Amino acid sequence: MDTRHFEPDRIRNIGIIAHIDAGKTTTTERMLFYSGFAHKIGSVDNGTAITDWMDQERERGITIVSAAITTQWREHQINIIDTPGHIDFTAEVQRALRVLDGGIVVFDGVHGVESQSETVWRQAERYQVPRICFINKMDRVGASFDRALASIRKRLLVEPVPINLPAGEEQDFDGVVDVLTMELIRWPDNLGAHPERSALPQAWVATAEAARQRLFEAICETDDALLERYLADKPIELPEWRAALRRATLDNRLYPVLCGAALRNIGIQPLLDAVVDYLPSPLDRREVTGHHPQTGTLEHWPLRQDQPLCALVFKTVTDPYAGQMAYIRVYSGELRSGEQAFNPRTGDKVRIGRLVRVFADQREDIDAIPAGEIDAVVGLKAVHTGDTLCAFDHPLVLESIQFPDPVINIA
Ligand code: GDP
Repeated sequence: MDTRHFEPDRIRNIGIIAHIDAGKTTTTERMLFYSGFAHKIGSVDNGTAITDWMDQERERGITIVSAAITTQWREHQINIIDTPGHIDFTAEVQRALRVLDGGIVVFDGVHGVESQSETVWRQAERYQVPRICFINKMDRVGASFDRALASIRKRLLVEPVPINLPAGEEQDFDGVVDVLTMELIRWPDNLGAHPERSALPQAWVATAEAARQRLFEAICETDDALLERYLADKPIELPEWRAALRRATLDNRLYPVLCGAALRNIGIQPLLDAVVDYLPSPLDRREVTGHHPQTGTLEHWPLRQDQPLCALVFKTVTDPYAGQMAYIRVYSGELRSGEQAFNPRTGDKVRIGRLVRVFADQREDIDAIPAGEIDAVVGLKAVHTGDTLCAFDHPLVLESIQFPDPVINIA
């Protein structure tokens, strides 16, 4: 695994959220496989490699369920943060939503919006987390993309904008139509690691063009300058459409929708592309807010590396290999191995020892966790979930209420 340091605009801290059984685990596994591991395992031309890889992972003590896993796609680093399975307004859910910058909401292609998808959607809305939607299980009997979209409109009260359409449904589902490029993307035999792109067959053109027009119009509604050019019939290039859709998604004005069937390895690469293209980088968050521990004043800090340290411990786990690990998101400054950080809850300075980055199948030692990043510290004893680590002379508390701190054993 290539562990070079990425600039913050090339980082995506995302959560995958869903109603139970919609396919969150399968989608996460496939995303990890196709991003970080496809190149490592080499050319994968059949689906058994994926299953083998997942079995090996499970034997090695499964990191798929760890608090945050790092992978890479198109020269971007994607940190997938585990979101709690039980969905309510607990501190744990709020904390997870605070740590991530964007979300993929996975829906079941048969059921569309279900009760828990509605709850997570509302929570993400409350925290203004930009989202893309993935309508999964399009291969199942009874799956319907249009019905799933209708349920998003009716229950979530937003206008979903499909950026791809299913090519076939139920047993005929074997690919997607890219609405922006008007290409057909197919996964031959449902096993291919390498999707094939081709021109759209004539039978699909009218439907795809109508979807593209709806997408353009939805984007134009969020961008006056683009609307003017669109109405005047001036040419607008694809990167401009993508950039405008990205801005609208970051502002929580539009919600790009994709479809696929994670179990059959269909639609995962376009989903990874959408994470890079439409979900925020840490720099897109304007600031982090917290309280001064003595005065209680609300403070807003810019998210920059040259600022004092401000980091949140969002989960502590007992790792089967590394022992006690604290997963940390650094908002500003940098957390360096060998240096000290201040814990305002205890009033103590803590020494930062070993720092690790967690990939699905390995842990890499690193020297520092820069602003925007999510990694883990090994062996931080007196630190609890929810603690802030900051500079002694610039204290800030991100979570003022103390919550119980269950140690989660993932062995
Ligand atoms: P989670 O509870 O949201 O994490 O869902 P899982 O990923 O565990 O999936 C729940 C069930 O749906 C499992 O039996 C999966 O094999 C199955 N599943 C996941 N994705 C698909 C899919 O694309 N198509 C079909 N037919 N089944 C799927």
